[in-house]
Amino acid sequence: MIGIIGAMDIEVEKIKGFLTDISTETISGVNFVRGKFDGKDIVVAKCGVGKVFAGLCAEAMILKYAPELIINVGVAGCLDETLKIGDIVIADNVCQHDMDTSPLGDPIGMLSDINIIKFPADKKACELFADCAKELCLPYSIGTIASGDQFVSSADKKKFITDNFGAKSCEMEGGAIGHVCYVNNVPFAVLRAMSDGADDGAKMDFPTFAKMAAENSTRVIKTFLSKF
Ligand code: SAH
Repeated sequence: MIGIIGAMDIEVEKIKGFLTDISTETISGVNFVRGKFDGKDIVVAKCGVGKVFAGLCAEAMILKYAPELIINVGVAGCLDETLKIGDIVIADNVCQHDMDTSPLGDPIGMLSDINIIKFPADKKACELFADCAKELCLPYSIGTIASGDQFVSSADKKKFITDNFGAKSCEMEGGAIGHVCYVNNVPFAVLRAMSDGADDGAKMDFPTFAKMAAENSTRVIKTFLSKF
């Protein structure tokens, strides 16, 4: 079983649409759509926006479906100056840029007890996503994706995230999904298409380009599933 999580309908509707043998169930308010694609068992869920929704969805998916891999798909803000709107960022690791116990002497972003800042994504999935982006002629970068419970839309916040985490993209769910997968020992991957530049223009760009970017993310995931 491969699990796929997106925060918003535009990120998962088309993926649900190409599944066959569909069954659905709702757990903790999250609707899970199970089906087949290319002979593989897939479960897809829309988790909602932000780290708590994403974390609870990943946990429920793991407990109910025991996926061998969880993939977080969708759109994100771009922090990599070499990329444009619509291009792809593939996480080799994820972090939470709004986790901060630094007044107590901890590094910014460190999750206490497990003492981790960056959760490594599954290498094989990351490489396969890069092959798929190449095949579809979509420009891509591989690097850190930083999550936090805020829509990033200023030069200052962008600088904070790139300075502290060297991230190539920012969004609101991947770091929570990586965290939950890590503690459950489940491999994960995060694939995002850029909907905006996480800058002053982001509040205009996101509503204009999110749908187009989500379609690019869906094209990559479809190619990925046929090769996995
Ligand atoms: N009420 C809006 C909220 C969207 S928030 C709605 O439901 O449509 C933006 C979503 O896209 C989040 O899921 C986040 O993961 C991603 N995202 C895109 N650009 C982002 C940015 N600049 N900063 C943070 N998240 C971003």
